[in-house]
Amino acid sequence: MTARRISVPPTAGLALRCADLRPWGDKRLDRALAAWLEVDEVLLECSGTSALVLALRTLQQLAPDRCEVVVPAYTCPLVALAVAQCGLQLRLCDLSPDCLDMDGDALDALLSHRTLALVPTHLGGRVADVARLLPRAQACGAYVIEDAAQALGARVHGRSVGLQGDIALFSLAVGKGLSTYEGGVLLARDPALMAALRAQHQASIRPHLAWELRRSLELLGYAAAFRPALLDRVYGAPLRRSLARGDWVTAAGDDFGSHIPQHSMGAWRQRVGLRALARLDAHWAQAQQQAQQRIAQLRTLPGLEVVEDSPPQAQGIWPVILLRLPSAAQRDALMQAHWASGWGLSLPFSRVLPDYERYAPVLGEAMDDPVPQARDWAQRLLAISNSAWLSDALFGQLLDALRQTMPPSAAG
Ligand SMILES: *Cc1c(COP(=O)(O)O)cnc(C)c1O
Repeated sequence: MTARRISVPPTAGLALRCADLRPWGDKRLDRALAAWLEVDEVLLECSGTSALVLALRTLQQLAPDRCEVVVPAYTCPLVALAVAQCGLQLRLCDLSPDCLDMDGDALDALLSHRTLALVPTHLGGRVADVARLLPRAQACGAYVIEDAAQALGARVHGRSVGLQGDIALFSLAVGKGLSTYEGGVLLARDPALMAALRAQHQASIRPHLAWELRRSLELLGYAAAFRPALLDRVYGAPLRRSLARGDWVTAAGDDFGSHIPQHSMGAWRQRVGLRALARLDAHWAQAQQQAQQRIAQLRTLPGLEVVEDSPPQAQGIWPVILLRLPSAAQRDALMQAHWASGWGLSLPFSRVLPDYERYAPVLGEAMDDPVPQARDWAQRLLAISNSAWLSDALFGQLLDALRQTMPPSAAG
């Protein structure tokens, strides 16, 4: 007999319960999410990416002479695919050296009368400083779309993220917190813009039986497999196979197909999400408590940097704890040694967008946008799972591994 392997999930996703799966009850997940986010209304979409496509198509109609979308150079490749799907030109903004936000000077160099939208991103639950970008966006007449795919539940100035910019999207994909296996949420602060989004949704989004059946089965499978005894088979084993091939792009989950399905979300998945939503506040509160304790321990390691929310008044969520190591060599050594250890270590994304060969066709001219600071982030960042399954004992092992990775010279 071989020893039973365990795999901690890479993020603190909200686990489903059997009772969530009952096929009756209230099915208006959009209304429940609007109430939870303290807004009048939201649109429910089949993915965060589909939500972004819908937002961009709406803005294209409002400003047809603008054709560029500025996104952080270190973000989910799906964002680039969504921009390309709309026939828009991507522009890549470098990151600030101090935080995961877009760099102000780099942004100034990119914004113009051609800019349709810029997409500040709340990565890994960390809140980006959107207020700092607003004057720049207003000065050039561009819209601000907050990518809060990884930040459903994060708050700034006492309100949900997503309400400082013009439009916000959240993801309900597996691993991002609340999940309907795939799903997206779209909102706009201004009622007229919200009405335009709704009109676009009503004109273009239809039910799709085959996709809904597939997503429903996937959601059932996820509900069944999201437990310590099974996750190693469905997550750990494929991860080890990717790592054995040296394929970090697949290991990081960055290998996306270019087709972006668009359809409505069926009633059953909405019911499941709605029941789980009732536990999301408690889930994030518990995750925050665990993160705070662990961050205090991580801070005792010299040279290691824990990524924080950018605005001081923000309360992000903690699906993961993001760390920046002193060098790319140390980050890579740690991942080589322990990505497959079952502790839930991961990379938010394996590289900056221009460094994936497979996405070169959708980047176009954006391949030449200079992104040295974002590349440095991509090479030194890693994510520690903040799942409750990462026990104190396992976290202790992880701390020891980190301690060994950090040379004494990094002290001070
Ligand atoms: C996951 C993700 C998306 C896309 O959301 P999906 O629901 O997976 O389509 C967009 N932006 C960021 C930053 C993401 O992490």
